[in-house]
Amino acid sequence: MSSLRFKVVEEAFDHKAMPVNIPAERPEAYFAKAVFNRKKMFEYLPKDTYDELIAAIEDKRPISRSLADSVAEGMKRWAIDNGARHYTHWFHPLTDGTAEKHDAFIEHDGKGGVVEEFSGKLLVQQEPDASSFPNGGIRNTFEARGYSAWDISSPAFILDGTLCIPTIFISYTGESLDYKTPLLRALNSVDQAATKVARFFDPEVKHVRSYLGWEQEYFLVDEALYAARPDLVLTGRTLMGHESAKNQQLEDHYFGAIPSRVEAFMLDLEIEAHKLGIPAKTRHNEVAPNQFELAPIFEETNLANDHNLLLMSLMSEVARRHNFRVLLHEKPFAGINGSGKHNNWSLGTDRGTLLFAPGKNAKENLQFITFIVNVMAAVHTHNALLKASIMSATNCHRLGANEAPPAIISIFTGKAVANLLDMLENATAADLADISKKEGVSLGLAQIPELLIDNTDRNRTSPFAFTGNRFEFRAVGSSANCACAMLALNAAVADQLNQFHVAVTARLEAGEQLEEAILAELRPLVKQSKAIHFDGNGYSEEWKEEAARRGLDCETSAPKIFDAYLSTASVDMFARTGVFSKLELEARNEVKWEMYTKKVQIEARVLGDLAINHIIPVATRYRSMLVDNVVKLKELFPGTKGAQIVAHDLETIEKIGAHLEIIKAETDRMIDARKEANRIDSEREKAIAYHDNVVPPMEVIRRHIDKLELMVDNEMWPLPKYRELLFIR
Ligand code: ADP
Ligand code: MG
Repeated sequence: MSSLRFKVVEEAFDHKAMPVNIPAERPEAYFAKAVFNRKKMFEYLPKDTYDELIAAIEDKRPISRSLADSVAEGMKRWAIDNGARHYTHWFHPLTDGTAEKHDAFIEHDGKGGVVEEFSGKLLVQQEPDASSFPNGGIRNTFEARGYSAWDISSPAFILDGTLCIPTIFISYTGESLDYKTPLLRALNSVDQAATKVARFFDPEVKHVRSYLGWEQEYFLVDEALYAARPDLVLTGRTLMGHESAKNQQLEDHYFGAIPSRVEAFMLDLEIEAHKLGIPAKTRHNEVAPNQFELAPIFEETNLANDHNLLLMSLMSEVARRHNFRVLLHEKPFAGINGSGKHNNWSLGTDRGTLLFAPGKNAKENLQFITFIVNVMAAVHTHNALLKASIMSATNCHRLGANEAPPAIISIFTGKAVANLLDMLENATAADLADISKKEGVSLGLAQIPELLIDNTDRNRTSPFAFTGNRFEFRAVGSSANCACAMLALNAAVADQLNQFHVAVTARLEAGEQLEEAILAELRPLVKQSKAIHFDGNGYSEEWKEEAARRGLDCETSAPKIFDAYLSTASVDMFARTGVFSKLELEARNEVKWEMYTKKVQIEARVLGDLAINHIIPVATRYRSMLVDNVVKLKELFPGTKGAQIVAHDLETIEKIGAHLEIIKAETDRMIDARKEANRIDSEREKAIAYHDNVVPPMEVIRRHIDKLELMVDNEMWPLPKYRELLFIR
């Protein structure tokens, strides 16, 4: 009897909502309390140090050692005043999550005691033992040790008594070994490129910033139930489990009342987030049972991404106080919605203009359409790369499933922009001349604001949607580091804007009017990138066929999707924008393929163990109970009567036998496929072998286990079922 399952279900139901800890203070009193932001810098740093540091941050300049020493001293005093005993360089290696190694501030004082010290040297640079972080072979050479260096654009913060200093992580030969370095490079390149183009419209623009507002979706599972599911513990998703009779079909969860246990968790999480300066704002139930979302107010992309990574660790920590486990996996449960992390993205000038927002007159709207069209062109040119940027062993379960965008990148614009693009494409020379004279009336440039005000047609099926003043990249996975998607997108757009700037400048030098020159360059872009524009139903089968006809990338195998990083178009674009060298791209793909293989490998092992050690024994035991029953009944009722009575049991015995046979055979096939794949040297080929040969038997095994779940005595079934996992009381 599986008393364990019943026990944990009981325990889960017994978990009451924790009291909601509503602080007496309002958020403004504790917001960013744990962050060494400008206010704290001003308080703790000498005036010249403060001025110099702020200037360096704004101009993106490195800081001198003496400045670092002075900053370190102030930062240490602030940290100690706030209870910190340790410090760490906090960085984003090419794994899931962040890395940190803590050191105490203490040093010998020479008199048998200690003093707490922290120098500029320790603030600015460290050499974490880098050998155990993924590097794709870059660190195999002896001079290529790794070091971490302070990213002055992201403020230090205190987490659990440790001063955390956001850092980049690179090799001594300069190759990036993390996500932050290339993200900063991409943000730099989009700043430069977009500034040049924005100056066509406003010569005073000095900088363009990239903004990111992520929406973090997640599942919560009761801790007791979680602990009884080895698949959740080891892989973050359920590798088996029959659909619950009720799941999301009544559409009663989305925006529904938040269960009080969850609400207590959310409030606790928000308060912790606010203390760390994360502007958490929105919370709601998502579509699937036990699925929720948290979204902050958008911020500059690098900071927003730090905040997302921080929030993901915070979530896991706070959840445990409430006897929950957070599942950030993109597809923890089959048959119901998975989790994404929509990346709302925009560009804005230091003069306060959002470049994807329509303006008040034709000139501002020409700027608007210039940026929209360039984004479309960049996304079109690099659609395969952008798909690669969101792809992973976990997100591949979500994309192409019924609730999520397919594994094809397209852009939804909505009617207003679509009409404008049509007009632009079909404009005559007279129309183009009109822009400078009559406020662009015939092109519709004057009318956009009114048109956009009621642009509420939201297309949830699009992986990349224009939503009024920003684009929403929806294909990003819930567990992903947003940097992957954001660096590819910002770099691609930077490259496109650079080309556009060169082309328009050439026309200006040839004596053309600004507006005419811009329109003349926009028109061919609109034509060329038409294929990326799709406002229809992205979930439909017809779209897959249509997209293939349009020449969009339709590859569905994750390991092959990663190839897009190494296409000539990607390598050249990343080189021109200074984001990645070819060596870095190659190394990163090695890591991507290796990660893919390892994740599937772990899942296959867990599934094999569960099949052999949990499911087969239980189903066999149940079958022998039935066999016993049949034998006894036949003794009791000999002849045809007995045969009639046992007919049903016999049928079940046979069915169970058939499922068991398939599960055993497929488990063997899966193990053999793994062994064979493991012999392959090339990481790419190995990942492909895992995708092609290991994943298919896993799916068959699961299907048959799920069938058994419906047949075997409920009391004997060892693993908590979906109906138990998915409904928080
Ligand atoms: P949705 O209706 O798409 O679910 P949410 O309110 O959940 O919207 O999240 C929208 C996110 O987009 C928030 O993080 C919000 O701050 C962000 N956002 C709003 N405007 C911009 C912008 N111009 N650039 C980037 N992000 C933005
Ligand atoms: Mg939302």
